[in-house]
Amino acid sequence: MSDVVIEVSRVKRTYKTEIGYIKKKRKEVDALKGISFTVKKGEIFGLLGPNGAGKTTMIKILTTMLTPTSGKVSVLGLNPVTETKLLRPHINFILGGERNLYWRLSAYDNLAYFSDLYKIPLSEQKERINELLELVGLKEVAHQRVETFSKGMKQRLQIARGLVNNPEILFLDEPSIGLDPVSARKLRDIIRQLNNNGTTILLTTHYMFEADELCDRIAFIDKGEIVDIDSPQNIKQKTDNVSVIDFTIIGGNDMKINQLSSLPGVQHVQTKNEDILTSIKLHTNNPQTVVPLIYETMQEVVIQDLSITKPTLEDVYVQLIGGKVS
Ligand code: ATP
Repeated sequence: MSDVVIEVSRVKRTYKTEIGYIKKKRKEVDALKGISFTVKKGEIFGLLGPNGAGKTTMIKILTTMLTPTSGKVSVLGLNPVTETKLLRPHINFILGGERNLYWRLSAYDNLAYFSDLYKIPLSEQKERINELLELVGLKEVAHQRVETFSKGMKQRLQIARGLVNNPEILFLDEPSIGLDPVSARKLRDIIRQLNNNGTTILLTTHYMFEADELCDRIAFIDKGEIVDIDSPQNIKQKTDNVSVIDFTIIGGNDMKINQLSSLPGVQHVQTKNEDILTSIKLHTNNPQTVVPLIYETMQEVVIQDLSITKPTLEDVYVQLIGGKVS
């Protein structure tokens, strides 16, 4: 039997909208432009990409909420468009920023409510809910109203909510958005534990270190297309002989900054402006030659804090997705 649990083949999704109030104009957005990938049973698979890349659209298609314009999708061997009812009991999802909890109910009662929706027999509910509250560290506050919870606690309860039906695949759209580092780490521990217990996880995140830490494989998406797909290690190895020269300049002009990208040996330039300071990252496989050239190009400009490091997953991401961030 194949161990592929998600198969996406040449999937396109176009949104048709109208813009303007008086003179209405039709507008089409190609959110996905023919995406293909597979996810294997037991994997943690990450979808990464900038705002508007198409990540949420992909998750909505996989979780039966949206129909693709064309292409083929299979989740657990089922078609999410035509076999919705068969598929839904076996998957669950937590979409970022979603307020799918009843704040006036306790954590326990929220989970009981969602267990009812999934038709979990009453005889099984109590044990399952207690297990889930234990897993997400909310057993002590099980009977406290959700409105008294911190953001991290609410997010952990969301995870428990997504597990009431013991899904084979859990879809998480930006699970740790807005969480402090300690809460985000707790959440990552829960995700890992779930995965160790056999749940396949597909998640989107904007946090590269999170993807690096959690994911077995990652797909980088940009403007509706996959630009790379591999394990975090392999993605980083692709830039094994690359160094990142990181520095800040005071008062440089665009012309000088543009000159940096044409220096011999420079593969990529990324800039970020903050008032009169500009942070610059150069990717090169020959830092010894490039560093003196930087000083030569940047005459009359103050250069601060120059360092040479190895690329992080975030550097690779920026190189693949494109340069200028602000
Ligand atoms: P983010 O990281 O910001 O959540 P994303 O990668 O999840 O972004 P999507 O939300 O899938 O991206 O959006 C992909 C594109 O489709 C964007 O250009 C977005 O504006 C557009 N889009 C999404 N939903 C709709 C909709 N209901 N109607 C029209 N356009 C839409």
